[in-house]
Amino acid sequence: MRALITGGAGFVGSHLADLLLAQGHEVWVLDNLSTGSIDNISHLKDHPRFHYTIDTVMNEPLLAEMLDRSDVVFHLAAAVGVKKIVEEPVATIETNVHGTEVVLKHASKKRKLVVVASTSEVYGKSLQVPFSETADLVLGPSDKHRWAYACSKLIDEFHALAYYKEKKLPVIVVRLFNTVGPRQTGQYGMVIPNFVKQALSGRPITVFGDGTQSRSFTYVGDVVRALLALVEHPGAVGQVFNIGNGEEISIRGLAEKIKAMTGSASEIVTIPYDQAYEAGFEDMPRRVPDITKINALVGYRPTVDLDEILVKVIEFFRTQ
Ligand code: UDP
Repeated sequence: MRALITGGAGFVGSHLADLLLAQGHEVWVLDNLSTGSIDNISHLKDHPRFHYTIDTVMNEPLLAEMLDRSDVVFHLAAAVGVKKIVEEPVATIETNVHGTEVVLKHASKKRKLVVVASTSEVYGKSLQVPFSETADLVLGPSDKHRWAYACSKLIDEFHALAYYKEKKLPVIVVRLFNTVGPRQTGQYGMVIPNFVKQALSGRPITVFGDGTQSRSFTYVGDVVRALLALVEHPGAVGQVFNIGNGEEISIRGLAEKIKAMTGSASEIVTIPYDQAYEAGFEDMPRRVPDITKINALVGYRPTVDLDEILVKVIEFFRTQ
């Protein structure tokens, strides 16, 4: 298979490139390095089946040419990280909505399979855990900028499914739950890299809110295996899938676990949400995926549990 990965120098995209190359596929990466990093793909630069271009998906002639050479596009280029989204809402909306629009438009002209990366954020404040793909989505008001991320990704989902319905474009929508592992930076707010870096440096571990909110973390290697399994299964086309791991932990519990696993003397401190993000910030209390659908279709099951993930992330930051 010839795969185009937009956002391929990012955390998930670079792991996907590793997997595709290991399986004998040809990979083209298109990334503007806005949140991705050349370090994530530098080990691949001399690989004969790896090619990359540093540019944006908004460069439509380039995108069209790269699509010509591909059988499938994994559209991962997007604004990421709650911190960045709250601080840069305009760029978030424009990147996520317009970027996906041009990818779908050009893929449709050339009839290429498109995987659209959405997010578990679309479930919002829903309390109906575990979240299944057919569940109602519960978002907060539009003056709370966090929800712009979920809304922009929902427009991407509607747009992809509209192309499928109206233009018969093969699309697959995936909702990624908190995906973690080596190469993820804490720069855009993600909790595990931040806690690990704080613990290793002896700085306070910053739990936002009261720490009772929970998340379930998925190893990036499991996520990219799921992506590949979906594109290889004809039954995935035109559908939405959760990709996640049902193992849930509170954020305070996570802080304690990371402190213990690193042998850190760091203090665990609590920071109110309005200081951590912005006044009136709304968090979601729980976020647990229902993975019945993807399991039934391609046999997906997470293989790396939270303790193993943390060992890998701690090792990654120790060697940085
Ligand atoms: N969080 C935290 N301390 C940090 C970063 C994040 O307590 O330094 C919390 C955050 O408020 C949220 C959870 O950890 O409740 C997960 O945050 P992340 O940004 O990783 O992902 P989210 O699930 O919010 O998209």
